[in-house]
Amino acid sequence: MQIAVFSAKQHDRRFLDAANARAGHVLHYLEARLDRHTAALAAGRPAVSLFVNDRADAAALAVLADQGVRLVTLRSAGYNHVDIETARALGLTVTHAPDYSPHAVAEHTVALLLALVRRIPQAYSRVREGNFSIEGLLGFDLHGKTAAIVGTGRIGRSVGRIFQGFGMRVLAYDPRPGPETRTSGFAFGALEDVLGEADIVSLHCPLLPNTRHLISHATLGWMKRGAVLLNTSRGGLLETSAVLEALETGRLSALGIDIYEDEAALLYEDHSEQGLRDEVLARLVALPNVLVTGHQGFFTREAMESIAGATIAALDAFAAGLPCPRTLTAPGASSARLPPAAPHGSSPAFPLNMEPSTEPAETVPVARKSEA
Ligand code: NAD
Repeated sequence: MQIAVFSAKQHDRRFLDAANARAGHVLHYLEARLDRHTAALAAGRPAVSLFVNDRADAAALAVLADQGVRLVTLRSAGYNHVDIETARALGLTVTHAPDYSPHAVAEHTVALLLALVRRIPQAYSRVREGNFSIEGLLGFDLHGKTAAIVGTGRIGRSVGRIFQGFGMRVLAYDPRPGPETRTSGFAFGALEDVLGEADIVSLHCPLLPNTRHLISHATLGWMKRGAVLLNTSRGGLLETSAVLEALETGRLSALGIDIYEDEAALLYEDHSEQGLRDEVLARLVALPNVLVTGHQGFFTREAMESIAGATIAALDAFAAGLPCPRTLTAPGASSARLPPAAPHGSSPAFPLNMEPSTEPAETVPVARKSEA
């Protein structure tokens, strides 16, 4: 089967070619990012492979369908960059790669945290210059601190388990905690309450209409003064200008992010000649208590092998006329169950107006502020 691979980098070629060695599909690598203008490059290929910054909006999908594309495979778990309803209406099958190593992103999240609290970037620069002073490098123990995990899916649970290994108390907020959280030992509570108690807040929920700017002026106000904020999920979860202000005023003591709200124009390209033209990002990276990486949380050998394997498995199934694994456009697939949009305002136990699907049996509820 022929497939046009958009946003293809050397590492994509390496892992996809290896996964395809026995399958023998014909892979056409395109450097271009998918959008409504580049979609015509897929002409004559029944399948396309997309990454996180390809824009599969309604217009781009319509062009793909016109060109004869029938299968859209995502080299990512997240699918906020694809208009799933339009894809379904156009009769396109969309698959994603939800099962790849959650440990890759979880471990990267923890790497950001450790680097921030022990001031590793500053220490590294100093020692390279022959400066062995530890003045200004004072950190703090993670042991005994309280962390809040927002979104207890695969990655959030993995981060929580690592935090527990450090001897941290783990609080959690998730409108639909899965049955796997029953024995997690996480203390579930309302968003306002878990944010209010945590020294470290780590975001692991998807970007949806109702999670955009989950961390805003309002919710930053719920957080403990001096908390550390981590976001390796999607940039749109942060109202970045509000977060910048919180860092400048000391409400947040540090920020670690692997993604940025306006990352699409920047990612996976070398902009060092031009410098950072995004003023908010330039101000963020200039702060000593901010660590930004360029959406590399997924980028481990194990995760790349798994993503490439999922892509080839989708092609195999589609070519054989079988249902593709991990299909987002199937009736009842996850995209069809997206929760309704609701603002983050007041703080009922589940502020998104949804009841948890399963009450975690062995988790401890976090005390409401009024009870604390
Ligand atoms: P998952 O689907 O396993 O878990 C997501 C969890 O978020 C679910 O438990 C869900 O109930 C919960 N959730 C939904 N709405 C919520 C809300 N409003 N508040 C709190 N929780 C909510 O997903 P995952 O595999 O753990 O991935 C999490 C996110 O990580 C993805 O959506 C993606 O955006 C991001 N991600 C980033 C990278 C990277 O390289 N940095 C790689 C993979 C995934």
